Amino acid sequence: MPGRDRAPKRGKDGRIVFTRRMKREYTLLMPQMLPVTFTMMKKVFELYGYKVDMLTSSHRGIIDTGLRYVHNDTCYPALLVIGQLIEAVNSGQYDKRKVALLITQTGGGCRASNYIHLLRRALRRADLDYIPVVSVNLSGLERNPGFSLSVPIIRRLAAVMIYGDLLMWLGNQCKPYETVPGTTEKLTAHWTDTLVTLLGTGRGLSKKDIGCRMSEITADYARIERAPSRLRRIGVVGEIYVKYAPLGNNDLEELLLAEGCEPVVPGLTDFMIFKVNNRVTDVDLYCGSKLKKLVAGAFQRYIESLQRVMIEAVKTRPEFTPMGSFADLRACVKGYLGYGNKMGEGWLLAAEMIELIHSGVSGIVCAQPFGCLPNHVAGKGMIRKLKDDFPHSNIVAVDYDPGATRINQENRIKLMLSNCRDHRDARPAAQQPSGEETMLSGGSR
Ligand code: SF4
Repeated sequence: MPGRDRAPKRGKDGRIVFTRRMKREYTLLMPQMLPVTFTMMKKVFELYGYKVDMLTSSHRGIIDTGLRYVHNDTCYPALLVIGQLIEAVNSGQYDKRKVALLITQTGGGCRASNYIHLLRRALRRADLDYIPVVSVNLSGLERNPGFSLSVPIIRRLAAVMIYGDLLMWLGNQCKPYETVPGTTEKLTAHWTDTLVTLLGTGRGLSKKDIGCRMSEITADYARIERAPSRLRRIGVVGEIYVKYAPLGNNDLEELLLAEGCEPVVPGLTDFMIFKVNNRVTDVDLYCGSKLKKLVAGAFQRYIESLQRVMIEAVKTRPEFTPMGSFADLRACVKGYLGYGNKMGEGWLLAAEMIELIHSGVSGIVCAQPFGCLPNHVAGKGMIRKLKDDFPHSNIVAVDYDPGATRINQENRIKLMLSNCRDHRDARPAAQQPSGEETMLSGGSR
């Protein structure tokens, strides 16, 4: 009957199914992780007829809401994301009967695959269990007739991931040096809109097109007027959510900029390839479906080919340090961690630290959420070994949890930054690169 709410349809597993009608009528609320990439992802979903709102709220109330509905010893990213979603639903900004919640499921062995169940439990406890929760995954974990990741959407999301990495990578090399404040952000916003418009018309998707767009983007960033000074380059690694999300890491990038540093943040593409590569590794190490290995291998090669296009585009401009490839990362962790170490960020986390050391950063922040065992092993647990092998390495593990105060986190980071200078001063003059403060002289990855 028009105007009357129908009871939400439940699937065999008891969950509310997101139907085609809901696609037309509901607003999907999605958490934000990487600001630039997720802004484009939201717009890609809109291109396909979804109404999407990306949550950018950031205040203590989110943690308190998370603590109210999620057990306090669960992963901190889950607590934040669930707190933020429930907070938004209760904010009065939305019709509670016309919203659905988007959440990713990695499909791996870590708890990120189960955040969705924690969210549903939290909704039940908050008397909001009539709200559909939609899983975003590539593993066929949960299906909904009103939401599907079709091949065209996946291609656009893959392109957005690569473009997003490029914008973030170049932005981080321009923003700390820009002579007119705000220029980099304006250019990033311009390209964010332009790329989504292009993707909507079916352009900017082929490898050739991506290459052309990336050359244009790189040339545009190279035109930003920058001061000639060289700041301390500080790497950021860690669990994916607290590494990227300003809500998760208390605006770490802004803190580094305010402290006069250039943030060096490895992109999302390596993480995606890592996740796909794990399917191949599983079959190699433990046997399994050869077909699965074949499909995963083909998808990995596709994303790696896009990554190569991005690297080549950056290499054309000498003013920028290019990012490395997934193959470089995989090679550099050999002898440190086995490729079967794949829970959470697994071997990738250690590989990123090693690569950053080789690229000559002055220090590294390893962002660790509360409740995250795998990343404490592959992150914090590796710091001693790296210190032994690279005596000038300067890595600080920073814990992010509901009880940690921002001031405490900032103090730890500032102490690490002050050690950057100590490192430089402690080294013999011959070992000190001129004009730049580095942990270890070496080429870029
Ligand atoms: S990587 Fe850590 S924070 Fe993420 S799901 Fe696994 S245990 Fe939780």
